[in-house]
Amino acid sequence: MTMMSTNPATGEVVARFASHSPAEVERRVARAAAAFVDWRALALRDRLAVIGRVADLLDARREEYAALMTLEMGKLLVAAREEVAKCAATCRWYVEHAERLLADEHVAVEGERAYVAYQPLGVLLAVMPWNFPFWQVLRFAAPNLAAGNVGLLKHASNVPQSALAIEQLFEDAGAPAGVFQSLLVSSDAVEGLLADPRIAAATLTGSEAAGRSVAAHAGRQLKKTVLELGGSDPFIVLASADVAAAARVAVTARTINNGQSCIAAKRFIVHEAVAEEFLQRFADGMAALHVGDPRDPATQVGPLVSAQQVAEVEQQVAHSVAAGAVLRVGGARLERPGFYYAPTVLADVPPHAAAYHEEVFGPVAMVVRVPDADAAVAVANGNRYGLGASVWTADLAEAERVALAIESGSVFVNAMVASDPRFPFGGVKASGYGRELGAWGLREFTNVKTVRIRARPAGTGVTHAE
Ligand code: NAP
Repeated sequence: MTMMSTNPATGEVVARFASHSPAEVERRVARAAAAFVDWRALALRDRLAVIGRVADLLDARREEYAALMTLEMGKLLVAAREEVAKCAATCRWYVEHAERLLADEHVAVEGERAYVAYQPLGVLLAVMPWNFPFWQVLRFAAPNLAAGNVGLLKHASNVPQSALAIEQLFEDAGAPAGVFQSLLVSSDAVEGLLADPRIAAATLTGSEAAGRSVAAHAGRQLKKTVLELGGSDPFIVLASADVAAAARVAVTARTINNGQSCIAAKRFIVHEAVAEEFLQRFADGMAALHVGDPRDPATQVGPLVSAQQVAEVEQQVAHSVAAGAVLRVGGARLERPGFYYAPTVLADVPPHAAAYHEEVFGPVAMVVRVPDADAAVAVANGNRYGLGASVWTADLAEAERVALAIESGSVFVNAMVASDPRFPFGGVKASGYGRELGAWGLREFTNVKTVRIRARPAGTGVTHAE
């Protein structure tokens, strides 16, 4: 099988790679299993030295990696540079904090030395998406390699150049052979990999359908998974909000990464007292966006990743309009080479419309009006996903009440949702389970082990509870 790297700005295939043969996959899995033995035994400080060198190389190669992402999946060059910088900063966060966060936790028990130890599980399979080709991988790799695990990356099939560049990055940073490798395989190979006894656990960032498949196969093998899946994040604007600020940020929150971010705001739920003003400002902002070549610094929205993605967005918008949504801005693909779709605002979207209940992975916003904060929470929670949420209001007591009532992995008040290495990242409901980043991401794939050492044999002191 051949993997293709296609430039979404032009539609041209820019590189082709042969997939790894079964024999090559076997060599890599064996190398990973062997590497784990030494890597876990290495002092944490030495493992962190590798992560620190990864950060330095990311900084040194920022332009190269940014250009690669823009070429392969159409991200704005300016955003791609920020993505590489964020990867480096996250590596450094773990270099600074991993020792404290992975330290044994002692528990005072009479006559014992007792503690909880965090030990690595082994070889982790990471199935990753194309939309943040470096960030998704580094946010998995930095903490998990620090914890003593080793990584096998099955990247999305349309970003083979990024997959190979990241493998090379770890090698150049001095990671021992086998500690981080890419597998150029299609998603069909994942079931077999999950059944391989040398692979301990898996993490997947991607669609709900892929998550269900990986969780089912891993479940059959009793292997732990972390799933970071889709989202349809609510962006709630309440009556006392600074509407101008909310509308300005709403434009960025919907169109970030050309509208293809799991934590992009997708459903705009607005109090009826400010709905008309918000809609006007938001629609004007979306209409004014400059769509074009992702390398051009003047561009604000670049292409979607593929022709198929454009077709899907087109269908979701058509379905929503047919269902009664009012098209305020956009609503069509752009007739030019490459995979472009116009920034779009759909108002008064009814619950049975696709844009209301599905994730739209493109620069398309849906707006609904609600009579009060409780109704806003009900609409926010009346959705299968639960990744992030943003609430806009000047009333901070109301803000906190709404924030705690929303079913999501994070809530931001008077700000857009963003990930940060200091905080856990993940979702609930169909957005998945498990957490990345922070202490949580460092410990997800560890054996949290109870160790209780008595110098003298214990009496039976039996209790009949476990
Ligand atoms: P996708 O089609 O699910 O692909 C993601 C990865 O899963 C790719 O490596 C893909 O391989 C693989 N895959 C697909 N189907 C699979 C299956 N049945 N079994 C095993 N692996 C499978 O998702 P995408 O279109 O690339 O990414 C967009 C989705 O990711 C959106 O839903 C977005 O919200 C979500 N996302 C979530 C987060 C988060 O942190 N929660 C972050 C970013 C993106 P192939 O490429 O070879 O098919």
